[in-house]
Amino acid sequence: MDFETQKVAIIDDEPSTLLILESAVEALAEVVTCSTSGEALSFINQCLPDLIVLDISMPELSGFDVCRQLKASPVTAAIPIIFVTSHSDVENERNALALGAIDFISKPIDIELCRLRVKNHLMLQQQKHLLAHINAQLEAEKKQLSVTLRSIADGVISTDTQGQVTFINPVAQRLTGYPEHEALGKSIDVIMELRDATSNATMVNPAFYALKEKRTAAMAFNTVLVSRENQVFRVEDTASPIIDDQGNLLGAVIVFQDVSEAVEMAVKMTHITNHDQLTGLPNRVLLHDRIVQALSQRISPRSSIALLLIDIDNFKYLNDSLGHRVGDSIIKSIAHRLKAIVGSNATLARVGGDEFACLLTDIGSGFSADSIAMACLQAGREPIVINGKSHQLSLSIGISLYPQDAKNAEEMMRHADTAMYRSKAKGKDAFSFFSTDLQQAMHRRVELEIILRNAIENDTLVIFLQPKFDFASKSMMGAESLVRLYDDEGNIIGPDEFIPLAEETGLIHQLGHQVLRKSCALVAKCNGLGQELKVAVNVAAKQLSNPGFVKEVDQIIRNSGIKASSIELEVTESALMHDFEQTRDMLNALTALGLSIALDDFGTGYSSLAYLRQFPLNVLKIDRSFVIDMDQEQQAFDIVLAIVNLALSLELSIVAEGIENQAQFDALFELGCHAGQGYMLCRPIPEEQFLTDHVLLDNRIHLV
Ligand code: C2E
Ligand code: CA
Ligand code: CA
Repeated sequence: MDFETQKVAIIDDEPSTLLILESAVEALAEVVTCSTSGEALSFINQCLPDLIVLDISMPELSGFDVCRQLKASPVTAAIPIIFVTSHSDVENERNALALGAIDFISKPIDIELCRLRVKNHLMLQQQKHLLAHINAQLEAEKKQLSVTLRSIADGVISTDTQGQVTFINPVAQRLTGYPEHEALGKSIDVIMELRDATSNATMVNPAFYALKEKRTAAMAFNTVLVSRENQVFRVEDTASPIIDDQGNLLGAVIVFQDVSEAVEMAVKMTHITNHDQLTGLPNRVLLHDRIVQALSQRISPRSSIALLLIDIDNFKYLNDSLGHRVGDSIIKSIAHRLKAIVGSNATLARVGGDEFACLLTDIGSGFSADSIAMACLQAGREPIVINGKSHQLSLSIGISLYPQDAKNAEEMMRHADTAMYRSKAKGKDAFSFFSTDLQQAMHRRVELEIILRNAIENDTLVIFLQPKFDFASKSMMGAESLVRLYDDEGNIIGPDEFIPLAEETGLIHQLGHQVLRKSCALVAKCNGLGQELKVAVNVAAKQLSNPGFVKEVDQIIRNSGIKASSIELEVTESALMHDFEQTRDMLNALTALGLSIALDDFGTGYSSLAYLRQFPLNVLKIDRSFVIDMDQEQQAFDIVLAIVNLALSLELSIVAEGIENQAQFDALFELGCHAGQGYMLCRPIPEEQFLTDHVLLDNRIHLV
């Protein structure tokens, strides 16, 4: 689009004027001329000039007629016309303008003036073309853009500065459920309901951030779009402000994609990479993550995390001899059993061909890990029936604990593995701890349980007697019966070691029964020798929770033929705290039988005076821990003083435990405590010795 290509047509019947005009214009454009007004129309139609210079007075058709014809045709109507007039005539000029002419050139022709006029109009014309061209281009671009936006796979919505929708493409219409005509003019947050995929909380549309902060804003991770029909799409993408060249905000455009499928795929992929295909259990990768996570979120500094590595014994042999199908079935069935044991709070993973791992978070000590291990071993022994054939299997388990055994996930795995090989070495079908301390403690526990069970079964538990002395008469007023257990080598095992185990395993009921029976038998023996004896028997909290306890005690006493008043039961404060009503009723029933009740280890619990008042108690035993310190520490002395006063106010008698030296004895005596037991007075001794020394000889204590 430049001047050379512009064309000026001159129509005039006078050759001289034609020449003048031609010479005036030729430097500006290509000039074509026509001197016959009758042919002007066809001439113009042929050459289609950019500008026409038209004489008004011509013989055939006047310039006005030619102009009229040109304006009537759509092809030529837009071509600007400059008239050439011989005299400036207002009438002519008015007519000419009315017909659509744009300018005049007057005769006689001033060449320079004529040239300038034509030049200006050509320039105007040129700009008009340019503008039309740009417009056409813009129009084309707009069309292309609109086609693009309408055909791309992303949802596109644009808004004005208020966030009201000005454009919505078909994808966005489909995802939001709003057709274009309904969406336009509505607020973006009405059209796009965005929520957090996890919490379902409503989220602010990023278009508002784009508008407010004039920056591109990404949609929060984990966003879902809820359509008008309540369809949910996982969406992802951004909103940008629309800003013009001057920096004015015009609106925002938000582009988003439905990533539901991609997310689903990603979830599937993570599941595949984190799980074992055969059993569906987490694999080694996920287990490692879980261990790391557990170590970083350990519930309390006192709790431990255990990792059990569980291996199927002789699996390779089974797999090779029975085939892989059977092998797979075995793996699946073991996985199923183990899963049932460990439950949903633990992670059970398959970490190798025939290896599983179980991660237990929050265990109190090694012992709850060992009960799970024991249950797993048991489950492994259950025969597996495949194709009608039964297979007998066993497992080997290794246990490592955090923080006792390992500093990190890798060490836990390694140490559980070491422990597992220890189980294999022991002959399989066993579990082992990595830590030798725990291993030994666990061994001891298992060993002790066997010894205790045997002793109970064979009735070989024995009682030792520790006399209680009355300070005033210096003579024995009774004895406490203390259970003892002998191991295979004849070593004595103290009750502190096995009473807790007996309580845990429930063996305490039988143990208590036997101790009471032996104690009653001793009383009966003394009675037979013509001596009265009162024996105190310890009762564990768990025994009191047995509803048949009173009946059992009554039965034993009756069978032994002694008076119930010869037996005192020692119960601890913690036993009383258990079930108030049931315990009170039980103690009342025992009292009604004629037994007396002593409160053992007094001062170590938390019972209030008002609380104690509600139980039928006869004796308070001051705990050894106070007696030990009372000759050294003012506080211990004060506590004993308080206990003595309390006992007096409750009209209870007092027995001090654990008197080991004269100073303690003196202090107690001074406080008004008149009975006690302790190594200084007499250690717990076997029955025969007790009978000879204290029943037959009436050994009195030697006090200064
Ligand atoms: P306890 O009822 O407080 O028994 C007193 C314990 O203190 C006994 O320990 C006794 O040997 C010990 N002792 C006595 N005088 C002294 C002393 O002067 N100094 C020191 N340091 N210790 C002294 P033992 O026989 O080892 O019994 C420990 C605990 O086992 C008993 O504490 C009792 O709670 C429980 N126990 C013992 N026999 C039985 C029983 O047959 N049934 C139940 N349920 N528990 C029993
Ligand atoms: Ca006791
Ligand atoms: Ca005690």
